[in-house]
Amino acid sequence: MNVEAALPGHPQIHRVDGALHVESVPLAPLAQSHGTPLFVYSKAWMLEALASYQRGLAGRDYLICYAMKANSSLGVLKVFAEAGCGFDIVSGGELARVLAAGADPAKIIFSGVGKTRAEMRRALEVGIACFNVESAAEIDVLNEVALQVDQRAPISVRINPNVDPKTHPYISTGLKASKFGVAHDEALAVYRRAAALPGLQVVGIDCHIGSQITDAAPYAEAVERVLDLVETIEAAGIRLHHLDFGGGLGIDYRGDVPPAADALWARLLEQLDARGFGDRRIVVEPGRSLVGNAGVCVTEVLYLKPGEEKNFCIVDAAMNDLPRPAMYQAFHRIEPVQQQADRAGATYDVVGPVCESGDWLGRDRLLAVKAGDLLAVMSSGAYSMAMASNYNTRGRAAEVLVDGAEARLIRRRETIDDQLRLESASA
Ligand SMILES: *Cc1c(COP(=O)(O)O)cnc(C)c1O
Repeated sequence: MNVEAALPGHPQIHRVDGALHVESVPLAPLAQSHGTPLFVYSKAWMLEALASYQRGLAGRDYLICYAMKANSSLGVLKVFAEAGCGFDIVSGGELARVLAAGADPAKIIFSGVGKTRAEMRRALEVGIACFNVESAAEIDVLNEVALQVDQRAPISVRINPNVDPKTHPYISTGLKASKFGVAHDEALAVYRRAAALPGLQVVGIDCHIGSQITDAAPYAEAVERVLDLVETIEAAGIRLHHLDFGGGLGIDYRGDVPPAADALWARLLEQLDARGFGDRRIVVEPGRSLVGNAGVCVTEVLYLKPGEEKNFCIVDAAMNDLPRPAMYQAFHRIEPVQQQADRAGATYDVVGPVCESGDWLGRDRLLAVKAGDLLAVMSSGAYSMAMASNYNTRGRAAEVLVDGAEARLIRRRETIDDQLRLESASA
């Protein structure tokens, strides 16, 4: 048996005699029994990614809140809930989902620019840890809702440190032109207002500068800006018990080399210590870095379509399953599930069946494939299934969670009946 090294960026995904495995489970038989497209996740890698943050923050007062919008499958949430993780939610739906997975409400924080009154009420009812409020207008509404239910809502204000994370514009969130957060210059006024409202309890400060950040420098800069504000706000007599630095740490999609979470936090904690804030509760909201490289999407080659200018490899996964290439021109590695050393390769655009030219998964890929082969779209654990849709009336894929040699179906494939159930053709 020839066990090869793990695939780049995917410590729990490797080949045995050319056959791709997630932990000890070969992907080809999984695809046989569950069909394709099929998402497969490694539990060991999720826990290892979490452990990197835990090591980085060890010995401190900290809370890791998994930003569940990255992958909100119940089976995935349960892994993190059982590991003692908190959660960062952005909707009432996510709140219900994460409670169903067994999350502790006291470890839930609620982000997002458009929380409704109903969502606020429900979050207060279950007793979440903190609302990350994103505007002065939201502060007034939350105050009102809290008073109606005789509570004081714990809040942080999400401030906009105006730091450029040098990532894709759609996932940069900390710049002045962003819809997120409160501008640095307005933060003190918003804090003063919040502190004066009887339905609110100021507990912290929050920022989140973007996503797929592969450099430590923007974080270091954001920490300095946030601490400047903390000093200003506390000088006004408002105590901030926790400091939330958001998520956004990148992963290796295409040879990207983001800092490891433990190394990044060793550096940021030095900054906090140097300025005398090392003993505050630290909150982080990682999403992608906890799940992105824990998952692959297995897809079957339907047709090869050679052309004069381009060869197309048409597969059964599409932009409705894997929206990142269409949305952000994102790159996912694409690997044969079984390596074929003896076959000649050609360069293909790997595309799905959806009727959109934007429906591609990879461009100009050298592949030695034929119809019926299986391919694995790598780095598909984050912002893939969570963003999946029914476009073209395609049922959403099934999901499997691997733990060692065990593989458990955590979401069955969506059927046409599932899709039609909410609709009616009669008058
Ligand atoms: C999306 C999001 C995160 C997680 O971002 P990642 O890049 O997946 O780590 C954290 N906090 C907030 C407020 C978010 O919107």
